[in-house]
Parts: sequence; C-alpha cells; structure tokens
Amino acid sequence: YKNNIIRTQSNMMLKEKNKELEIARDKAEKASNARSEFLSTVSHELRTPLNAINGITHLLLEEKPKKSQMHYLSSLKFSGDYLTKFINEILEINKIDSHKFEIEYINFNLKQLLENIQNSLKELALVNNNQFILKIDSEIPDYLIGDPTKLSQIMMNLINNALKFTKNGTVNVVAKLKSIANENATIYFEVTDTGIGIPEDKLKSVFDSFSQGSIEVNRKYGGTGLGLTIVKKIIKTLGGHITLKSVVGKGSTFSFELKFKVGSQLLKVEQKQKS
Ligand code: ADP
Repeated sequence: YKNNIIRTQSNMMLKEKNKELEIARDKAEKASNARSEFLSTVSHELRTPLNAINGITHLLLEEKPKKSQMHYLSSLKFSGDYLTKFINEILEINKIDSHKFEIEYINFNLKQLLENIQNSLKELALVNNNQFILKIDSEIPDYLIGDPTKLSQIMMNLINNALKFTKNGTVNVVAKLKSIANENATIYFEVTDTGIGIPEDKLKSVFDSFSQGSIEVNRKYGGTGLGLTIVKKIIKTLGGHITLKSVVGKGSTFSFELKFKVGSQLLKVEQKQKS
C-alpha cells in the first residue's frame, strides 16, 4: 500500500515535470519564431533602400567620375556590396535555422557544375596569381540527383575563401567517388589551398557566426565571418559533415561527403523537400 502511494506520488510529479517542460518548449519555440520573423523583416526592410544606394552608386561609377569622386564612390560601392552580402547571409542563416530551407532534387551533371564554378572564378584566381586545379574522378556517374544549387553555394564559398587566403599558390578541388551501390552514390569533395592556414585554436570556431581569424587577418582580408557558418549548416541539412585540417603557413583542407542518387542524361527530376 505504501509502495502504491509512493508510485502514485512520483507519477504525479513526473506528469507535472513533463507539463512544465512542454510549456518551456512551447515558450522557446514561440521566442525563436518571433526572433526569426524579426530578423527576416529587418533584413528585408534594409534591403530595399540598400538596393537604391547600390543602384545609384553603380550609375554614378558608370558616368566616368573625377578622380576625387572616384575614391568616394569606390568606398561607397565597397560598403554597399559588403552590407548586401551581410544581409543576404543573415537571411540565409535565418532560413536554415527556422527550417524554411528547401532541398531540391534535380538531375544534374557534376562535372559541368564544377567546371562552371572554375570558369566563374578564373579572374579571382588571377588576382592573387593562384592556380586553380579541378580533379574529378572519372568513375563518378555523369549525372546525379541532388541539390546542385546548394552544392554550388558550398563550393563557391570554400573556393572563394581558398583563393582569398592564398597568394602565388595552388587551390585544388577534388571530387572522388567514395561508394556506389543500388543507384546510391557517395561523393567525397575536397578544397585544398596552399595559403596562410588557420591556427589550431581557431579550427573549430571558424564555423561559428561572425568568427574570423586574428584581428590582423580580419583587417587585411575583410569578410563577414558568416560564409563558413552557412557552409556547415547547408552540408548538415544535406546529411553531411564538414572537416577542416589546416597548418599555419602551409594551407588548409576542407572536406565533406554527400549522398546522391544516380541520375541519367534523359531524366527530368524536380522535387522539393523542407529541410
Ligand atoms: P569571411 O567572410 O570572413 O571569410 P568565413 O566564415 O568564410 O568568413 O571564414 C571565417 C574565417 O575563417 C575567415 O575570416 C578566415 O580567418 C578563416 N578562413 C576561412 N577559410 C580559410 C582558408 N581557406 N584559409 C585560411 N583561413 C581561412
């Protein structure tokens, strides 16, 4: 009888605790939704006047300004571009965190995608006199089904960083077939550079929002400190995991694996799914 009373009491306490937990979870979810809505509204509100500022700056730059004006306009353009990038990245992070990020399943050609990226970054590679080498494993099926837009976004971010933090060096981009079975292919991607490298105590924190290298590195290279946060989050929503190895003064290697379905040239697949 005594045991029964104790059991009933502890059951009641457990129920009470669960109720409290549920209320706390509900409150946290409401707060998170409110925060996400606030961020989204502010960002969109900022974007409209910023588009006007950027547009007018662009027009004035096209009108062959005087040297003295050119200096101010270039600075205006730099700030406008930075703010635009920053706002877009905040919106992107917000979208991923509030699960409004859609994953698409599209039949695409991986080689073409990587070569397009290589072409679009050719000029950037020249700026720091870097070599940009693409190595695509010939065993990878020509067509894959996955999200090419998100894969491009990941690659563009990683390669942009690699080219930015490397001078007179090499950036290697590798795509290797890790495994293939029953129309499922796992591809290993790697972006390696011979640049400045990242100190050991910063290897984890570079993926945190607003985290950048040392103050000197930050001052010299600029940036928002959000690129790698987005890369890590996108890879996670696609079911992968990013790894970073780096040695100061030698270079860095970012790598990750993603799963795809094997596609074909004739296939038309377009499907969306919330992350
Ligand atoms: P940012 O826009 O500031 O480059 P990221 O999130 O892309 O922001 O990168 C965060 C920080 O990680 C950078 O400021 C830099 O210090 C470091 N970093 C990223 N990629 C590299 C790289 N390839 N080589 C050296 N440092 C890097």
